[in-house]
Formats: sequence, structure tokens, C-alpha cells
Amino acid sequence: MDGRALADRIRAHVGEEARSLGHVGFATVLVGDDAASEIYIRLKHDAATAAGIDAQDVRLPESIGEDELLERVAELNASDDVDALLVQTPLPDHLDEERIVRAVEPVKDVDGFHPWNAGELYLGRPQLVPATPTGIMALLAEYRIELDGAHAVIVGRSDIVGKPIAHLLLQANATVTLCHTHTRDLARHTLDADVLVVAAGRPAVVTPDMVKARSAVVDVGINRTEAGVVGDVDPRAADVAAYLTPVPGGVGPMTIACVLQNAVRCARFRRGEIAHSAR
Ligand code: NDP
Repeated sequence: MDGRALADRIRAHVGEEARSLGHVGFATVLVGDDAASEIYIRLKHDAATAAGIDAQDVRLPESIGEDELLERVAELNASDDVDALLVQTPLPDHLDEERIVRAVEPVKDVDGFHPWNAGELYLGRPQLVPATPTGIMALLAEYRIELDGAHAVIVGRSDIVGKPIAHLLLQANATVTLCHTHTRDLARHTLDADVLVVAAGRPAVVTPDMVKARSAVVDVGINRTEAGVVGDVDPRAADVAAYLTPVPGGVGPMTIACVLQNAVRCARFRRGEIAHSAR
């Protein structure tokens, strides 16, 4: 499954939407100088700028206090120029990430991490959904992967990937199994998966002998190793599965494209073109 090709199309469409809206403001907040976070912020900014979105890059020192950070978030919440607001995680240890995420206005919550948006997703009324699971669903739709009645197995239960994709797959009428480090005999579950989503953050958590023949496998992992960037699935799984997302070039570009898509959605919420339940 070619994430780059679909992401390019989504980004072109986002560009058209941004043009028709006139102005879409997207602010990102980066605290400290975590190398991986710097890369993600740069990718999002480059993509936003290319799509005609007005991206504002707020950089704050590692030593910033929680109250000061909350003040900056409040300013961005109040700014009419900002439609979409993202605070890059992970935050330095002395900052309470949960408190900061809660401080973002739910209609500007481009990441979909605020408990309001997470709750609406849980209840089956998605408003702003995290970009990675949104991108995975778009890829599965693009390749016409049957989800209704399928057994979807997810490896990883994080708030940003595992849990939200479980809800989206459930809403698409898949039968969902959510696996984690306490799961007994992981292979027993993965071998029964018509759709397998792997977001564990460890290379080769899934090997070819753990994959069901003719299934669709989505590799979310991004692991920096001496051999370069690799996913969580051994690429030889492609010999067994009908579909596999490459790393890089699969879920990664889709995540960036779907962040932009969410930014446009935030702008539409703020203009009252579509209704957000928190307004
Ligand atoms: P987290 O570390 O937050 O969560 C990892 C999850 O995987 C946990 O639930 C953990 O279980 C589970 N897990 C880890 N090892 C195993 C194992 N051996 N067997 C079964 N379950 C396991 O990671 P994220 O969800 O944030 O990210 C996962 C991966 O996806 C990372 O490589 C990350 O870089 C990548 N990523 C990629 C994105 C993209 O755009 N392509 C976007 C976001 C993330 P437990 O809960 O029991 O600890």
C-alpha cells in the first residue's frame, strides 16, 4: 500500500480547500530540542506551507515552566489567526503532558488528543481524530480492504495509535482484538488477522510466520536503527500478505497529510461550516 501516492493526493486536495477558505492558520509548539520532534515539526511545516496553510512555528526553551507554557497555549487558543494548534509530544519530564493536552481548545485540537475529541471517538461520534489512525483508515479504503466482519488485530494500545484505530475499525464493523505486552501468545492472534495493524515501536515484532496468508498488514513503526529507518514488521511479510505498507513510504506520509486535513477541518469548525460538539 503506497502511502506516498495517496498522501500526495490528499495534500493536493487540502491545498485546494485551504485556497477556497482563504486562510488556514496552523500553530505548532515545540518545547526543547528533541531531535525526532524537530524532524516531525519540520515535515509538518513544510507540508503545511506547500498546501498554502499559514504555519506558525512556536519554539520554547526546555526550561519553560508549566504555567508559562499554559499561558502560551491560552494565547494561541485566543488568537483568531490560529485555527489549528498542536503541542508536539513528548514534552520534557517536568511538564504534565496530560494537563497541557487538556489546555488546547477542543475545536483547535488538530491532533485529536484532547479528552473531548478522544471521548467523542469512543462514543462513535468522531470530531477530530488523531492523524495516524485516520491515515490508516484512508489507506485501507483506498485499497478496498474489506473491514465489515473482518478480524482486525492491533499490536499496541497507545492513546495516539492503538486505541483510536481500534475504535475506527470497530465503527467500520470489524471484530477487533487489541494486543499489548501482556498478551499471551501474540502469534495466535496475529495469525488470525485479516487486517493487522502493528504499532509497537520495536523492529520485527511481527515476522512472516506470524502473518495470515492474503491479509492486509499496516506497519506503523518508525525505528531508527544502524540499518536505517525500519518498521515493526519484517518486510518479508510481503511474501505472505496480500498488502503491506512499506517503511518508509507507508503510514508516515499519510500521517502528515491527515494532520493538514485536520487543520482544514479545524478551520471549518471555527467558521461554523461544520459543527463541533464542544462549541
Ligand atoms: P508506544 O510506545 O506509546 O506504545 C507501544 C505499544 O506497543 C504499547 O501498547 C506496548 O504495550 C505495545 N508493545 C510494545 N512491544 C510489544 C510487543 N513485543 N508485543 C506486543 N505489544 C507490544 O508507541 P506509539 O503507539 O506512540 O508508537 C508505536 C510506533 O509507531 C513507534 O515506532 C512510533 O515511532 C510509530 N509511530 C509512527 C507514526 C507514523 O506516522 N508512521 C505515528 C505515530 C507513531 P504496553 O501498553 O503493554 O506497554
